[in-house]
Amino acid sequence: KLYNQVQDLKGSIRVYCRVRPFLSGKPNYSSSVDNIEDGTITINIPSKNGKGHRSFNFNKVFGPSAAQAEVFSDMQPLIRSVLDGYNVCIFAYGQTGSGKTYTMTGPKEITEKSQGVNYRALSDLFITADQRRDTVCYDVSVQMIEIYNEQVRDLLIRSNSHKGLSVPDACQVPVSSTKDVIELMNLGQRNRAVGATALNDRSSRSHSCLTVHVQGRDLTSGTILRGCMHLVDLAGSERVDKSEATGDRLKEAQHINRSLSALGDVIASLAQKNQHVPYRNSKLTQLLQDSLGGQAKTLMFVHISPEIDAIGETISTLKFAERVA
Ligand code: ADP
Ligand code: MG
Repeated sequence: KLYNQVQDLKGSIRVYCRVRPFLSGKPNYSSSVDNIEDGTITINIPSKNGKGHRSFNFNKVFGPSAAQAEVFSDMQPLIRSVLDGYNVCIFAYGQTGSGKTYTMTGPKEITEKSQGVNYRALSDLFITADQRRDTVCYDVSVQMIEIYNEQVRDLLIRSNSHKGLSVPDACQVPVSSTKDVIELMNLGQRNRAVGATALNDRSSRSHSCLTVHVQGRDLTSGTILRGCMHLVDLAGSERVDKSEATGDRLKEAQHINRSLSALGDVIASLAQKNQHVPYRNSKLTQLLQDSLGGQAKTLMFVHISPEIDAIGETISTLKFAERVA
């Protein structure tokens, strides 16, 4: 019985889906989303006789009108478990333009209301840690990295070597307030923009990961608890037309396809409680190995664009999510 309970704790994988609203200033196509109810999303599939539907089930589906606060409050217990010593990974998956960065960080001009998960997560951790200050003393530090073409870049240092960096080597900065974190995230964003041009928006073709390390010392027993949380804004999942992409663009696309499917393979094998989990097939899964599986908690948060002309990518995103659910 106890063994079963321990097993239940393992491989804790949740899958959420969020549908972006139509963007103002763009023509309003008809929506590919037919219905959203609790954890079920039903998609309109164009077919010869004009109708066709398919439903997908997840732990939670957020419609286009879901506010940032609502999305966060659903994730809050998962995020707080870091303070109890759990490792947590949250992945934002979806085609470019589907709202991954909006969920994780926010829109271009971030207001308090539009703050994404990473700001809210950090301020919630500080508030909760402060509420527990009579019993536990917490130290928090953050790392920010980018993975581009299977190479890791530290986003919190100014001059960096471009090769062979692993997360343990990435600089880990102690923080004691949300303000500290915002400053670091801004530095990371500025560093991320280096190397990107208007025509070459690298951010959609690299994975970015904000890692939060938490160490708690129980003031009476002296016991130390360590937890960490990875907030990952993945590269765009869209398939690149192989006949059109050449050179660097093709190489990027191949790296992205390979690493996203490696991530899907790892999560699917954890969900199925397989003996062998193929962590070694991508940089991302190698780096996050300690936080995927075991007692760790994973949230795969897939994003879809509502426009009917994105239906192909929408279906492939939903199928990816269904496989890991
Ligand atoms: P991605 O990171 O997946 O490429 P973005 O997060 O950049 O996509 O979203 C594309 C555009 O849509 C941005 O202008 C963003 O502000 C807007 N957007 C995305 N999701 C929402 C949402 N839930 N509500 C309002 N605007 C959104
Ligand atoms: Mg983005």
